[in-house]
Order: sequence, then C-alpha cells, then structure tokens
Amino acid sequence: MENRSMKIKLARYIDAGFPIIYVNTFEEDKVDTIISEINYGKEIYEWNETNGYIDFESKTPLIEDCSLEMMLDMLKSIDLLDRKIILLKDVVSYFEDAKIVSKIKGLARLINQGADATIIIVSSVLVIPKDLEKYITILEMDYLNTDEIKKIIEDFIRENLGIQDVNERLIDEFAVAFKGLTEFEILNLLALSYADDGELTKRDLRLIFDQKQQMIKKAGILEMIPLKETIDDIGGLENLKEWFKRKAKVYKNMGKAKKYGVDMPKGVLIAGVPGCGKSLNAKAAANLFEVPLLRLDMGRLMGKYVGESEGNLRNAIALAEAISPCVLWIDELEKAFAGIGGSGGGAEVTTRLFGNFLTWMQEKDSPTFVVATANDIMKLPPELLRKGRFDEIFYVGLPNAVEREKIFHIHIKKRRPQDLKYIKVNELVRKTEGFSGADIEGVVKDAVESAFADDKTSVQTQDILEAIKNTHSLSEIMKDALEKMAKEYEKRKFKNASR
Ligand code: ATP
Repeated sequence: MENRSMKIKLARYIDAGFPIIYVNTFEEDKVDTIISEINYGKEIYEWNETNGYIDFESKTPLIEDCSLEMMLDMLKSIDLLDRKIILLKDVVSYFEDAKIVSKIKGLARLINQGADATIIIVSSVLVIPKDLEKYITILEMDYLNTDEIKKIIEDFIRENLGIQDVNERLIDEFAVAFKGLTEFEILNLLALSYADDGELTKRDLRLIFDQKQQMIKKAGILEMIPLKETIDDIGGLENLKEWFKRKAKVYKNMGKAKKYGVDMPKGVLIAGVPGCGKSLNAKAAANLFEVPLLRLDMGRLMGKYVGESEGNLRNAIALAEAISPCVLWIDELEKAFAGIGGSGGGAEVTTRLFGNFLTWMQEKDSPTFVVATANDIMKLPPELLRKGRFDEIFYVGLPNAVEREKIFHIHIKKRRPQDLKYIKVNELVRKTEGFSGADIEGVVKDAVESAFADDKTSVQTQDILEAIKNTHSLSEIMKDALEKMAKEYEKRKFKNASR
C-alpha cells in the first residue's frame, strides 16, 4: 500500500462524514498509524476480538470482558457518539448476528443525522451485511508499485549491508519478485534472506517465490498451478498453438512491441467440447509465456454475503495484477456468469460481478494475460463475446484423424516409449472417431495397465484396440449436445482451434 494515498482517501472520507468506512486489508498496523496521523483530537473507541474494548495507544483493555455489544451500547446517542472514531477489528464473524448488525446500523444512522463520528471496520476479508450496505464505503489497499518496492529494498540494503554492492539488475529482479507483497512481508523476507548468509543473492529469489505461493494460498481464491505441460504435450489444435506462439513473442518483448505500436495482449476465450485440451492449453500458454499460472476458482468466488463475491473478485484481480506478469486462468467461465440478467438477489450479484469483470477486461493494461475456458458457450452472455474483451475466441472440437494420431503418439510415448514403433497407430485412429483427447488418454492408460496386469512384456496394438472397444466415447455419450454446439460455433464464426 502506498501510505500517502491511503491516508488522503481516509481523511477525505472521514471529513465527508461517511458513516462506515470498511478498510479491506490485513495490514492492521498501518491502518493504526494512518488513523493516529489523521485523527484531529477525536476519541478512539477500539474493539477487537482478543481484548475487547481497548485503549488505542497502549492496546490494553479499558473495561474487563467488554463485549462488542456492550461497547456499541456505550455510544448510542448523538451526544455520546459525537467526536469519536469507532475502530472495529475482527468483527466480521459478528455480522451473522442480527442484533450486532442492527446496533451498528443504529450508530450509522446517528452519524447521518449529524453526529461527528466515523465507524472504521478493518478486516482482511470483505463481508458486508445487506443491512449495512448503503452505509458502508469500501477502502481498498493499493498494492505497492515497482518503484516503491525498489525503494524499500534500497533502504534495507543501505541500513543493513552498507554500501556493499548489490547490483542494479538483482534489485530489479527482487522488485519484480516482491510484487503483490506488503511492505511488512517484504521486510521480513529481506531480513530472512540476509540472515542466512549476510547477503542478498539470486538464490534468495527462490524463498520469495515460495512465500508468494503461501500468500496466494492464504487468500484462498487463486491457486498457483505448477507448470509441467508444454505446447508439445498438445496433439493438434495447430491454429490455437500458432496463435499462442505469436502472442508469446509480443508478451515476452512487451517493451519493444509497445514502442512498435503493438497493443498489450489481453487474453483468449477457449470454448468447446470437454476433455479436448482446453485446460492443457492454459498450462502450456503460461509455460510458453514463461510466467506463473494462476487459476481463479469461480465457485469459491461466490460468497454468501452481498458484496462479498465482488470483493473477492476485486481482490483476486488485484492480486493477479500485483503478481503479473502472469497468466490468469479462469476455468469454467460459464459457471460464474450463469443467471445473468435474471431477477432475485443471486442473479443481481452475478450481473454486477459480470459487469466488473467486463470493465476490467476492457480497461486492463497490466501484463495479466487471461485464458478463460468454457464448456458451454450457450450459457455465456453475449456481451462477453463481443470484440474488445478477448483478443480472440477459439472453439475446440473433437480431434480429427491427424490430431488423434498425434494424441496417441503423445500418450503412448509418455508411458511406453519403447513400444511406440511397434504399435499401429493408424489402426487406432480409424477406430476412435468421436473420441476426445481425454478418451484417448484413458484408452492408452487402460491398455498399459491391463498389459501389466497380464504380465505382458510390451503393450501392443491389440491391447489398445481392446480398450477402445470397452470405451464409450464422448460423442456416443453426448451426441446431440455436441452437434448443437458445433452449429452454434459455426453460426458465431468462432475460430477453429484446429487447422
Ligand atoms: P474439461 O472441460 O473437461 O476440463 P478440457 O478441454 O479442459 O476439459 P483437458 O483437461 O485439457 O480438457 O484434457 C484432459 C486430459 O486429456 C488432458 O490432461 C490430456 O492428457 C488429455 N488431452 C485432451 N486433449 C488433448 C490433446 N489435444 N493432446 C494431448 N492430450 C490431450
């Protein structure tokens, strides 16, 4: 967070008489510092879960065992409330309690009626009870930018290492690695890196990476996916792969490309048949771009409180942007945005969430490359498919004969490279029309397993044919749906991922 802009915003909100300011951050200490700097002589009533009602300066309890309710009751008239700041920490779990919510609302009303006071809620999670919605203003912590991070590193070096020379490029690398971390976390990591051998070296970058992974895990909505798959693990889908390679060239040379006049790549939507390599492509793309892959779990994003899912999306996006350059993989996009435009609370939240996402996609200029995948394009709202949101929309269909041959090669080679040259892949291809990539992988896996169980020294064509016979292919299972989808893609003129 940049202290200064946060301070200015908070001061402005307090001056403007906003009744409740919700500071969404896990840096409580910083909020304390800011409040003491901008508090012009108002009395601070602080309450937290551990100690109850405490003295803001010394953090010692003012009244033994004072519950949140008791403290709120001490302030329940304009006179009592006047010239106070009510600072509430760890209170989110109390929002389940209608009595507490109604008491907070009562105070907010008094402030609106003229009491010179402000309620400040500090929490790392954003939960807004419906009843308080119209009284609350959210204040988001900004992440540190590269220059601010560099300054922290340089200050640290000056204080701890003296003028020992840490080269400029290493500082740059550290600064990139630290993106998305708070000042507190950065200083901790610097201290840790320094403590092991008294210097800052390239090896310490590993530590930072691990720490970041921890942080992403803690935030809970994004997941960092390990990168094993490369573009060579994908059989077929040549158009899509070609497209990714071109974007990777731009992405990896962004400075040069920008100067040339090339726009920052935004992302791609890959829609189509399940099990045909959509996820595989998201992973391969991150590998090709040489950046981390973050998966956004849309299911977990949807919270049970009003504003929670929006807050979660905002946090996820902010985190991804802070970590960028990265690929942000949004899996099962249609699940998140089903029910848009409908009526009722749930649909409303979804519609708003969707609006926020669209705006972000439209205006985004950070190197966060979005790979969205969807099985059912029919469920996606048309706004999403308009130009300007994604750089391109591809559909992935069932693999054709040439592609099936490649997919067989990849999966046999992965498990039984020694058998590959004796296996008649052509024959397998002929027998697997309507099979998805995942079906083919399944067939190979089964054949290898049964050959092993039968003590065979090698896997042969016949073993795989046997497995094919025992498989119900995807097109057998969902024939009508697949045909309908194929027509839809044609109608909408999406690009075919295959050549
Ligand atoms: P879903 O929508 O069900 O998640 P998906 O299209 O994302 O499906 P993937 O997860 O990419 O499918 O594919 C499932 C598995 O099938 C992959 O892990 C891979 O092993 C295999 N597979 C699918 N398509 C291909 C392909 N074109 N080349 C090689 N392997 C493939």
